Amino acid sequence: MNGCSLQWQVQELPLRIIAIEAVTIAPVDAEGRLTEEVLWLEVDAVIINHGMLGEFGPIADWGLEMGKWNIPVDDRMATNFPGIFVAGDTAGYSKKLHLIAGAFTDAALAVNGAKLYMDPKASTTAYVSSHNAKFNEQNKALRIIEENV
Ligand SMILES: Cc1cc2nc3c(=O)[nH]c(=O)nc-3n(C[C@H](O)[C@H](O)[C@H](O)COP(=O)(O)OP(=O)(O)OC[C@H]3O[C@@H](n4cnc5c(N)ncnc54)[C@H](O)[C@@H]3O)c2cc1C
Repeated sequence: MNGCSLQWQVQELPLRIIAIEAVTIAPVDAEGRLTEEVLWLEVDAVIINHGMLGEFGPIADWGLEMGKWNIPVDDRMATNFPGIFVAGDTAGYSKKLHLIAGAFTDAALAVNGAKLYMDPKASTTAYVSSHNAKFNEQNKALRIIEENV
């Protein structure tokens, strides 16, 4: 495989007793399609590097300012296109960390940003469930929070 520029996809990990002894692999072409060729390799171990390939699809034609792998947003997750907000891995801002936890924060900010876009008189504070009046009442009933909070 030295010098080979194709990607390869693992096809099979034949196991004998408990150790991997060999692997069959098949090359993938530039469009990600498997080709016919299959190789059998004897190996001591298999290290799988998995990831993902971003593809914006038709969104790339919406007129949004685009980064190579993301869509730049401000601190309300607003894009340059009024009324379009982004959350998660696609949101591009300084120090963005691609973590599941961060996507939740982005989503709350995006929803609050969208709310403010639709109702400019809405609170500029990004609301979370603790601000919800019904949750508040329920929490008081359950004595999770004080009656006078
Ligand atoms: C290999 C790997 C390991 C990771 N490990 C961790 C980890 O240990 N801990 C951690 O916190 N984070 C980890 N992450 C990062 C984490 O997975 C992401 O930050 C998180 O999934 C982002 O959530 P998201 O909803 O923005 O995007 P995604 O989870 O990618 O969801 C986007 C969804 O949109 C769909 N989609 C894409 N394009 C379109 C379209 N045009 N139309 C309709 N649907 C579309 C996709 O199919 C996908 O289901 C890892 C990521 C990778 C790739």
